[in-house]
Amino acid sequence: MDKIKMQTPLVEMDGDEMTRVLWQWIKDELILPFVDLKTEYYDLGLPNRDATNDQVTVDAANANKKYGVSVKCATITPNAQRVEEYDLHQMWKSPNGTIRAILDGTVFRTPIMIDSIKPVVKNWQAPITIARHAYGDIYKASEIRVPGPGKAQLVYTPIGGEPEVVDVYDFECGGVLQGQYNKDSSIESFARSCFNYALSVKQDLWFGAKDTISKKYDHTFKDVFQDIYDREYRSQFENAGITYFYSLIDDIVARVIRSKGGFIWACKNYDGDVMSDMVSTAFGSLAMMTSVLVSPDGKYEFEAAHGTVTRHYYRWLKGEYTSTNPMATIFAWSGALKKRGELDELPDLVSFAEKLEQASLQTLNDGIMTKDLCALAEGVEPVAVDSLSFIRAIRARLQALL
Ligand code: NAP
Ligand code: MG
Repeated sequence: MDKIKMQTPLVEMDGDEMTRVLWQWIKDELILPFVDLKTEYYDLGLPNRDATNDQVTVDAANANKKYGVSVKCATITPNAQRVEEYDLHQMWKSPNGTIRAILDGTVFRTPIMIDSIKPVVKNWQAPITIARHAYGDIYKASEIRVPGPGKAQLVYTPIGGEPEVVDVYDFECGGVLQGQYNKDSSIESFARSCFNYALSVKQDLWFGAKDTISKKYDHTFKDVFQDIYDREYRSQFENAGITYFYSLIDDIVARVIRSKGGFIWACKNYDGDVMSDMVSTAFGSLAMMTSVLVSPDGKYEFEAAHGTVTRHYYRWLKGEYTSTNPMATIFAWSGALKKRGELDELPDLVSFAEKLEQASLQTLNDGIMTKDLCALAEGVEPVAVDSLSFIRAIRARLQALL
């Protein structure tokens, strides 16, 4: 069989620990035998980030901007213990944070569903994707622990203008006080990323906020979304046969639980923080959660939602074969190859990526699983295998499909 040709390189960002081990196996067993792989490789493993003063992360993000699509392995975000472990020059920032800041993107997280793992919510038949606006609100708020009676006010002073003052509360006793903000530019980017992603996967987009209570703050989110939708996206959505739907956040939560799934749920920062944990847990497993960063101008970075699985890596270093689940990392590759194929109009590449996903799901549906899933599976007699055996079982099914 001739290998499938690529046109534009994929930006490949390698990472750390157990996921770095899986990365190589996935490439060797599931990609390189079938695809004439073209990547521009960036080693975001912690030793190389340290050696390059983290320049490699910035270069990788800029390459993502240039080429449009990247696939990223999980990476260590260093803390004090890692500084010692890796003898680092500095406690480097989170690579995901650096990349997100450069691309100005929003993260979309989607569970991978299989027949034998049923969501806790019994009517959910298709994945629910959560998009979290990862900027501002309480995460950038200023707070005061009010010690006793006094007057609280909100003050805004425009450059060269007169201050605008709003009374918050006349405290007759102690209490708490908080000032939060967000920026039009950030809300607009968030909205565009959501509309672009909904078009890219042809799914409805839902958004909820509390505009009835928060008549300026949350209402601005609602208005920005509606305005951008009407001006830039309405006709594209209509052509794609999908809808944009806004409602109050509490109404949205109730509808999500009653739904069949299969849509994107855009959340303000705090809602996304809380609801993504609820939704991902209800779908089953963090190891089965994919993640894609989408910029407002339509650049994509695909990865797994989980980390570098450190505990398994230390066992691997001792010579043990671990049963680490590679599904989310495989789907990061398939997602990136599919997107590259769509952009370059390479139907063979798109079809290969779809078959890779199909073969992976088929392996799980045949009961061949990593240990983490065996505990969750119902209605099959699961066979627990190590990661490499699992990947080879996928390869056998992929070969048959091709
Ligand atoms: P983690 O790597 O996601 O792992 C936490 C635990 O979840 C593991 O110990 C394992 O449980 C289970 N798990 C996660 N993924 C799994 C998989 N694919 N297969 C099987 N089990 C899986 O989170 P962490 O231990 O908190 O973080 C480790 C490192 O990853 C940190 O240095 C952190 O900075 C980094 N991190 C990176 C990213 C990213 O790059 N996107 C995201 C999160 C964390 P058991 O040990 O019980 O089997
Ligand atoms: Mg959280």
